[in-house]
Amino acid sequence: MLDLQTDIKRFYFKCSNCENKGEAVEVHYKGEVNDYGGFIIECNSCGSESFIQIKNPSDSFESRIVSHNFKVVRIVDFYFEEEKQLIKDNYKDKQARDIIAINGQEEMPLLKGAWKSKPEFRIDSTDKIFICPNCKANIESESYNDIAKNIDSINSEYKNLFNYTVKRSCPKIITYNSSTICNSCNNAFDYTAFAKFNGRGEFYASKEFYLADNTGFNPNVNGVYTREQSKRFLEKFVLRWSLIASKIIIVSPFIGFDKSLAIKTPYKFLNLLEWFLTLNSFEKTQVLIRKSEYGKIKEVIGKEIFEKLDGYGLLNNIIEEMNSSTPRFHAKFYAGVIPNGENSYVEILTGSYNLHEESQSMENLIFLRMNLNDFEKQYLEPLRIGNIPSSYKSDFDIVKIKNNKSNLIFPKLCDEIL
Ligand SMILES: [Zn+2]
Ligand SMILES: [Zn+2]
Repeated sequence: MLDLQTDIKRFYFKCSNCENKGEAVEVHYKGEVNDYGGFIIECNSCGSESFIQIKNPSDSFESRIVSHNFKVVRIVDFYFEEEKQLIKDNYKDKQARDIIAINGQEEMPLLKGAWKSKPEFRIDSTDKIFICPNCKANIESESYNDIAKNIDSINSEYKNLFNYTVKRSCPKIITYNSSTICNSCNNAFDYTAFAKFNGRGEFYASKEFYLADNTGFNPNVNGVYTREQSKRFLEKFVLRWSLIASKIIIVSPFIGFDKSLAIKTPYKFLNLLEWFLTLNSFEKTQVLIRKSEYGKIKEVIGKEIFEKLDGYGLLNNIIEEMNSSTPRFHAKFYAGVIPNGENSYVEILTGSYNLHEESQSMENLIFLRMNLNDFEKQYLEPLRIGNIPSSYKSDFDIVKIKNNKSNLIFPKLCDEIL
């Protein structure tokens, strides 16, 4: 049954009698016969029974009640006329309430659990971030061509470690350390790229990897750029930090346009917001965005839907974080805290750029490095940002492929990853 084409929908609902919340999964077969029916469930909180209509109800791998705070009393199949009648007669006033049904939650960055949404590394030969240590030419294409050339051996190493690792814990990330040659000066350089560890055993394409580092990483970005370029730069730095930082800090008073423009062009605003939320795929980001932006998001999504989603705790954490943000600041910077023992340091991208849609409007940017203590004193204390971990999470395990051999590592220092 499971290899049929299926659609998975998530249902969030409340008990017919009290505020107890539950969750169910509906499996729908595309182009096949689907059984109509549902579940009679008993609330663990008040003991009342409720009925929730869901296709293909089952007690195993088809549609099911996920939450443990409701007990399934009976699976109802509308194929039988008497079961249909039973629901009509006895459960007319005992329907589960406030139901939200979401199709494709795993791809929606606005919501929690959007594990399928992925940021993108946009190769652009004009960006001076990953540059040759010798001649300063952009080396993005060279690195990606090298990954593509080696993708079969990467996949075979991945496959070797997959069975071993997934049985124990699921690693977060897979890295690839290699070297190739700069097309401009023919000098060799090392680079590190990475991807989210795929816990489902599917093979990688080279474009799923993100370039994160190269020999003598020393970006040359100080200057004036369009918003289009600034947004791409930020994307590349955040991706780099997703691998080597213990924390990414985003301080930007605003997300894009003012409120009236955001409401006038909701798709533009939501695209920008989703782009930003997707950058946090590796769950290392802490944000400081003005509280007013929380209200803006609420307005654009629609108050009623927003509050329902919020009520079920379905919103992306970053949106929740905005609700408790400080109101008054105009500072803007983006930073990655990089653990390296005594030599831990912070990379900072700062300037006039707010999180903003791509346009030809000009912004200025500066890249700096400073030690963690100075950064905390000079950047974080004034904004009362605390709790910055100077080491990786204890469960930050990485499958590292170097010299075409893979190992499972638990890095303490950034040097162990690169
Ligand atoms: Zn109840
Ligand atoms: Zn070169």
